[in-house]
Amino acid sequence: MTVTGIPETITKRISDNQRFVLLTHIHPDGDALGSMFGLADVLDSLGKEVFCFVEEPVSQLYAFLPGAGRASCDLDALHDFVCQAHDKAMVIALDSGDDNRLGKYKDELLTITPLAVIDHHKSHKEYGECRWVEPSRSSTGEMVYELALALGAEISYSCAFHLYVAICTDTGSFRFDSTHARTFQIAARLLEAGVNPAEISCKIYDNYSIARLKLLQLVLTTLTLYAADQIACIHVTPDMFAASGAAVQDIEGFIDYPRSLQTVKVAVFIKEVQPGGDIAVSLRAKGGCDVAEIAKLFNGGGHRNAAGFRFTGKGLAEVRIEVLSALGRELGVQPDKSVG
Ligand code: 5GP
Ligand code: MN
Repeated sequence: MTVTGIPETITKRISDNQRFVLLTHIHPDGDALGSMFGLADVLDSLGKEVFCFVEEPVSQLYAFLPGAGRASCDLDALHDFVCQAHDKAMVIALDSGDDNRLGKYKDELLTITPLAVIDHHKSHKEYGECRWVEPSRSSTGEMVYELALALGAEISYSCAFHLYVAICTDTGSFRFDSTHARTFQIAARLLEAGVNPAEISCKIYDNYSIARLKLLQLVLTTLTLYAADQIACIHVTPDMFAASGAAVQDIEGFIDYPRSLQTVKVAVFIKEVQPGGDIAVSLRAKGGCDVAEIAKLFNGGGHRNAAGFRFTGKGLAEVRIEVLSALGRELGVQPDKSVG
């Protein structure tokens, strides 16, 4: 281990290889994409060749990332890239706490070895040949910065931009309790590399479509409070997507509204995107409640204050009852509705 906790197998393997396939979790957020493109910049600066694989095109919300154009959904091109590496290829999965989160091509992707995993999820389920997992880190972007230092790589403006987006989004703009002194030290270095925080905040938070705001209007009408206003629940349905014209990616950040209520300890967002399809649930906590533990009960995962899971073959009402009773047990309260 180095001083920063990076296993030497990871730094050595990076030095020894020439071609790198970078992966991240499905429905990638700012940390997933920022850490992937940031690491791609780091590897570029070391003269390596990089393939950033994503299952779906980068969402409009993150189209402003300088690296967005290098993400590819082309599995055949990925195989060619690896075949031409003459055993000098490796895969690095970023910000994915569970190999199932690598998405629908998981089995094919896992045939490419060696696989190194860099992640900060509390609920991390081990996979890959070598791992660097630090749940105390604010973001995978913060870890990529440490890795760049360990590799002696230069932090270009593009790299600093990506890592700042990763850190800023995963800490809720430096608000969550995963924000440490080291997080600010790294942010300061990224500013010295040319990052403009006001510009990036504007691109992340003041860049939404009208359709997204219309969807938010509809979703907020579903706000329901339970357990003496300690649990706030919202939901979205396929009808709301159709009525607003918004896309599934547009719901990122909606859960911040129920969480923002003073009395709320846990916010719940239940998401039905396709009629009769899987139902995804997001949880956010303030204070003592550990929502990663609740997500585990439903085979999901995440962090102490932000976690999620999915249900297959259940309706929205049924999901709500199951989630509320689990939360009621955790908080030691009866989840009776207090506002409809
Ligand atoms: P979000 O609510 O923003 O989708 O996710 C919050 C956190 O929970 C993220 O760290 C994400 O990786 C994790 N998470 C969300 N959904 C799932 C899931 O279905 N399985 C697992 N293992 N983690 C999830
Ligand atoms: Mn993350």
